[in-house]
Amino acid sequence: MGIIFTIMNESNPSELPVLVFATHNPNKAQEVQRMLGSAFRIQTLTDIGCHEEISETATDLKGNALIKAQYVSEVYGLDCFADDTGLEVDALNGAPGVRTARYAGENSDAQANMRKLLLAMSKIPDLERSARFRTTICLIRGGDVTYIEGTCEGSIALNQSGAQGFGYDPVFIPQGESVTFAEMTGTSKNEISHRGKAIRFMVGELLGKSS
Ligand code: IMP
Repeated sequence: MGIIFTIMNESNPSELPVLVFATHNPNKAQEVQRMLGSAFRIQTLTDIGCHEEISETATDLKGNALIKAQYVSEVYGLDCFADDTGLEVDALNGAPGVRTARYAGENSDAQANMRKLLLAMSKIPDLERSARFRTTICLIRGGDVTYIEGTCEGSIALNQSGAQGFGYDPVFIPQGESVTFAEMTGTSKNEISHRGKAIRFMVGELLGKSS
């Protein structure tokens, strides 16, 4: 919370409208807080005392984002948003898609997921390796549900490269770049990434509606 309070230097954070980000990841929350400035106070699930792992059982990204946001809205009565991200590979008919986190099996880690992906793509030629990351955000304010989406087009590399970032970053080359997300700085990635775009759209929506 220290970082959040220093950013909101002129407002009393406890008086700001609370917006819950349905995640346990404080880094994701701080990223959004920085972009929102002092218009809202972002709280994570942990901040509101919700220690549940909310099951993502829907068949698409929208459905999973809705499940998480609706849980907070209904159980805690707070305005909330949730995100869900998938990697869609054209040569694999859109897989792994909604199963991106669990591509190599339940509880699979990033290395296992990338190994499975590179194997599935081993015979696919360079020009047919197109893919995209898609982030869907579900925002619930005063009971109103809004969906916001950000995509990043790119392609699947032949091998892993780079050590920055997380998840599938070492195998994803964004369109117009010659390096993977994992070879870019976090700032450069955020400028073009699916999540960066979706969050900027949401911030625009929130600041527009609150002014
Ligand atoms: P989540 O919706 O943020 O939990 O992400 C779902 C899956 O997509 C997880 O396997 C993440 O590692 C992966 N993922 C999400 N965003 C990114 C990204 O920016 N780069 C690489 N992998 C990502």
